[in-house]
Amino acid sequence: MSRYKFRKTCRLCSNRKFKLVLNLGHQPPSNSFLSKNQLKKPEQKFPLRLYLCKKCYHIQLLDVIDKKYLFSNYLYMTSASKPIIDHFQEYVNAIYNKFLKNKQEKIVIEIGSNDGTLLRNFLKYDVNVLGIEPAKNLARISRKSKIKTENSFFDYNLAKRISNEKKADVIIANNILGHVDNLRDFIRGIRILLKENGIFVFEVPHSLKLIKNLEFDTIYHEHLSYFSIISLRRWLRKNQLEIFNIEKQDVHGGTIRVFVSKKNKFKKKNSVEDFIKQEKGNGLNNIQTYFKFSKDVENLKFLLQKKIKILKGKNKIIFGYGASAKGNVLLNYCQIDNKILDFITDTTVLKQGKFTPGTKIPIINPKNRPKKDPMMVGLLLAWNYKNAIIENEKKYLKNGGKFLIPIPKPILI
Ligand SMILES: [Zn+2]
Repeated sequence: MSRYKFRKTCRLCSNRKFKLVLNLGHQPPSNSFLSKNQLKKPEQKFPLRLYLCKKCYHIQLLDVIDKKYLFSNYLYMTSASKPIIDHFQEYVNAIYNKFLKNKQEKIVIEIGSNDGTLLRNFLKYDVNVLGIEPAKNLARISRKSKIKTENSFFDYNLAKRISNEKKADVIIANNILGHVDNLRDFIRGIRILLKENGIFVFEVPHSLKLIKNLEFDTIYHEHLSYFSIISLRRWLRKNQLEIFNIEKQDVHGGTIRVFVSKKNKFKKKNSVEDFIKQEKGNGLNNIQTYFKFSKDVENLKFLLQKKIKILKGKNKIIFGYGASAKGNVLLNYCQIDNKILDFITDTTVLKQGKFTPGTKIPIINPKNRPKKDPMMVGLLLAWNYKNAIIENEKKYLKNGGKFLIPIPKPILI
């Protein structure tokens, strides 16, 4: 079938020897929320499995779904929320001051430039920008705000064509690398597009957080790779590039910003060795760490199912809080379906009235939640917003309402 293929080589080192680390079962794409009409039709499901490369310790999916199919009914869009806008502004100012200010001709290229929210911040400086964005509608919005945009996926051929005209001082790619199947082609493209003293800056979630906090629900079909510095460094070296700095980012919790250049162009910061040390200290270069992770995830599933069974025995109304992609991974893996959860609340209007893929739980407007607080238990599917949710739901908690937080360990509050 053309919608799905099984990959045989490591994305970073081309090795063919893998160890299956975690099997999350067959799951529908986690963003394919269902309309009422789609409920009766059979759903297409694909294996969701995490593999470890035995040579470079890169953890990745080998089950690859065609990206056109995967993103066809994508409800999630980068919303330009205030924290994101602030984050971008700081990001751009820092890069400009450190790497562009003193240059004569300044060229910045962003891969996956979305609607141009980040690049727009460069326009106040004397910078020549180019966005690369595969989504037609986003590329159009971006062009309207005077940002030159290529409507395409990024690959070597595109990079080569662009590089005939110009090369970049800075190439930016935020939360892109994890989605790219052919990373070899991708990094060749970066190399040809970069000036001799240019830098490549990217942000990715750090795999250490996934492993340490058992965040298995952040594993879904769109995310093909989960990066550690140990395996990234090796991969970049092989491609005549090197990491010279790493910064932790707060915005998505657990995201790292990695600075890359051609060899021996910048002084290497201590952060690089610090990250390597931390990763080794946590056993990211030891296969046993991944087996333990796998066991712990299975145990979490068992504990969560047990807790829910007890609550059901007490006639509690259990509902989901936040209909997210990762919530769907958790529900499908733990087999929590519409017989267990009555509904899920979500503020996204587009999702309301739809049903969760696989588990077919109806999604409702939070305003329509029954007013039976002492009887209710909210399963926190958007656990990454835990603090904000608890703050917003003070009254509910005071009235005797409860939350069940699933990760890193199921607890009732
Ligand atoms: Zn590898």
